[in-house]
Amino acid sequence: MYVTIDPDAGFCFGVERAIGIAQTELAKSGKLYCLEDIVHNASELERLKETGLIVITHDDLPGLTGERILLRAHGEPPETFEIAEKLKIGLIDATCPIVTKLQERIKKSYQEESGKGAQIVIFGKKGHAEVTGLTGQIGGKAIVISNIADLDLLDFSKPVRLFSQTTMDHDAYEAITVQIKAKMKLLKNDNLQVNNSLCRQVAGRSYSLKEFASSHQVLIFVSDKKSSNGAFLFNVCRSVNKNCYFIHEPSEINPNWFTEVETVGITGATSTPQWLMEEIAEAIEDI
Ligand code: SF4
Repeated sequence: MYVTIDPDAGFCFGVERAIGIAQTELAKSGKLYCLEDIVHNASELERLKETGLIVITHDDLPGLTGERILLRAHGEPPETFEIAEKLKIGLIDATCPIVTKLQERIKKSYQEESGKGAQIVIFGKKGHAEVTGLTGQIGGKAIVISNIADLDLLDFSKPVRLFSQTTMDHDAYEAITVQIKAKMKLLKNDNLQVNNSLCRQVAGRSYSLKEFASSHQVLIFVSDKKSSNGAFLFNVCRSVNKNCYFIHEPSEINPNWFTEVETVGITGATSTPQWLMEEIAEAIEDI
């Protein structure tokens, strides 16, 4: 049986960078606070906690006066920086540079266009940390849409400046853009600006993933259930290979999956560590 780990799997650039920053700090002091989970993967979180990482929530901030706190790749709204300043908390900002750039673009668009009646629209998951950080740049004045039903929130007679959360699905973003265009056209309004704000590390991934998933008899998808990107990419795999299994650790492997199987592929979300996929590959090879 041949077991292959997807060469395109593993942490995305932003998560890898944030974990690298955390590890550098932990090597210096042996203790580091991180605001919310640094990565949506319980196994990797456990590994980092063993080296001194302490995950806190926004509610814990008032009790951490004078401490140093890491901000993860998703980014934060300006209020977090203001609270930290008041509490004399030192922030180590590990926001992914791609997210920072998007925050700046949204802010600029709002400053330049809201006075002309433009609506800043973000296609993303309501309540997701990145979206909270994005809307926070303009005081919560963005309209967040997650699906076609949310289009009722827009005024199609007014200009629309459309952005997307970095990890949304490329095809879904395109579909929602088509709908907005059509509804604006009915009102003879063509003042729509569509901003390409999808992260290439995720948007481009589904194409290579389909190829990888369809070229193996069995596909093991490794991800934490908390990872929304994991759920999306797993469905991409399932669309081309029905022998696809979602697991988060080696103990979930079922030997029956590999009866008379010659090729097994292992892949994961952008929050799945390489070491975990390697452990799973070894466990399958032992079977
Ligand atoms: S998915 Fe893209 S934008 Fe999001 S953290 Fe990773 S590299 Fe950055």
